[in-house]
Formats: sequence, C-alpha cells, structure tokens
Amino acid sequence: ATATIRPPTTTLDDVFISVKTTKYYHKSRLNLILKTWFQLAKKQTWFFTDTDDPEFQKRTDGHMINTNCSSSHNRKALCCKMSVEFDTFINSDKKWFCHFDDDNYVNVPRLVRFLGDYNSREDWYLGKPSIQAPLEIISRDKTTQKVKFWFATGGAGFCLSRALALKMVPIASGGKFIGTGEKIRLPDDVTMGYIIEHLLKKPLTVVDQFHSHLEPMKFIRKELLHDQISFSYSRNKDEWNVVKVEGLDVKHDPYRFLSLHCHLFPHYSFCPR
Ligand code: UDP
Ligand code: MN
Repeated sequence: ATATIRPPTTTLDDVFISVKTTKYYHKSRLNLILKTWFQLAKKQTWFFTDTDDPEFQKRTDGHMINTNCSSSHNRKALCCKMSVEFDTFINSDKKWFCHFDDDNYVNVPRLVRFLGDYNSREDWYLGKPSIQAPLEIISRDKTTQKVKFWFATGGAGFCLSRALALKMVPIASGGKFIGTGEKIRLPDDVTMGYIIEHLLKKPLTVVDQFHSHLEPMKFIRKELLHDQISFSYSRNKDEWNVVKVEGLDVKHDPYRFLSLHCHLFPHYSFCPR
C-alpha cells in the first residue's frame, strides 16, 4: 500500500506576509489593517513603503520597510517595491511568500490552514487571475512571437513557495525584477506571472478564496466568509464595493473591515456584543 505523503505542518511562523503600501495610505489603509488582521500576525507581517514614518514604525514594532522606491503609481515604482519584497523574503527563513495590497483584509488563520495543503519544497504559485483567459502579449525581442501566460492579481494577494522563489532568484532578485518589468512594460503582478509562467514554465494554481476589488465583494455569501483568504474594498464616487457583513455602523466602518474582523473574531474590544 502507498501512504499519502503529507506536507510538513505549516504554522504562521512559516509565512512571510508582505504588504505593499505608500505614504499617502498609512493613515487611512494601514490604520485599518493595524486595528484588525495585523493583530493576528504582528511578527510575520511587513509593510513595504516609500518613506520613513516614525509613528507607524512604532505602531508596527519596526515592521515598516522603506524601499526607497518612488512614491508614484507607475510601473517602475511598483516593480521596485515588489523587487524589495521579494529580496526581503529570500533573505528570511520563511517557507511561504504571500503578497497583499494595503486594501486587502487577510484572514490569517485561514491563510495558514490553506498553505498547509501544499508543500513549500515544491513549486507553487497560488493566486487568482482577474481575467478570463491568459494574457497575450507580443514579445518585443527579436522574435515578436505571441506569448501567453496567466498571472495572479496582486490586489487579491498571492503566495509563492520557497522552492519556486529560489528558482526565480537568478531572474528576479537584486533588482532584476525591475528590469524584467521594464522589458515587458507591464505592472508588477503581471511581471510576476511572466517570470513564473512564461520564463520558468510553472503554472499558476487558481485559488478562488483570494478576492480583489475587481470582483463584487457583496456576492461573497455570509456563510462562506470564514473560508475566504483575502478581501478588499474600493470606492468609485457613490459606488462602494465592500464586503456585505453586519456589524458596526456604516458611518464608523465604511469599508466593512472592522465588521468583517468582528464577524470572524468576535472577541475584539471594538466589536458589538
Ligand atoms: N501603491 C503604491 N504607490 C502608489 C499608489 C499605490 O505603492 O503610488 C500601492 C497601494 O498602497 C496598494 C497598491 O499599490 O497596495 C494598489 O493601489 P490602489 O489600491 O490605490 O490601486 P488599484 O491598482 O487597486 O486600483
Ligand atoms: Mn486597490
């Protein structure tokens, strides 16, 4: 008889949680994260930003990393941050690299349980695409051939196993990630997909429990909230794309992360009881 080989158990300490942020969002977005899910992964979560912020450095117990990347929303600046996130993970002793945006809520225990189903010594690229078909680009090198690949949306969060990240080192570490982004002229999450799926030929594993604000948050059913790994929010004028969850007053919790946190972990001091 063959025994099923189970991956070694995964704990929170095996995970490097990386959050991309920028100085303009510390007071609003980071604040919401610090009040909620960060409390469940204070030692494992790192914020990659573009300024020194003594107040937040103190509130995160020294977990703010000034990437010295530009604070503008352009490809180079974003790839620069991803490149520092990646290098910092490589220099850590963690088994998993999980990237999120600062408008993500991370369901920490669910993330850890989820990673427990995979072996970090194997190559894993886990995340959720935001398009229905693989991205097709015309390679700009001599060949002008069509190149097709999937990528995990950065705004939903994604995870890489250490085995895969180590294979990426020759093409992605020490700032090489920025060079690749410049070559294909695409955003950081797309560049990640290009490196992993196209250059390394390792497939993206689609995980439905990651959610970006490109999806309507209100369709996530209440009974299934506990099973989801990440959530997000966005606002376009009067259109609010937020998780549908009861809890605190909309006035005090417009983006619903406090209410979501209370739904998942009702014992917090700010939760209604
Ligand atoms: N961001 C950044 N620099 C900027 C603008 C945004 O690092 O100049 C980060 C931001 O903190 C977030 C991510 O990029 O983690 C996506 O930004 P946002 O949610 O504002 O835009 P989206 O791409 O989701 O529309
Ligand atoms: Mn966003």
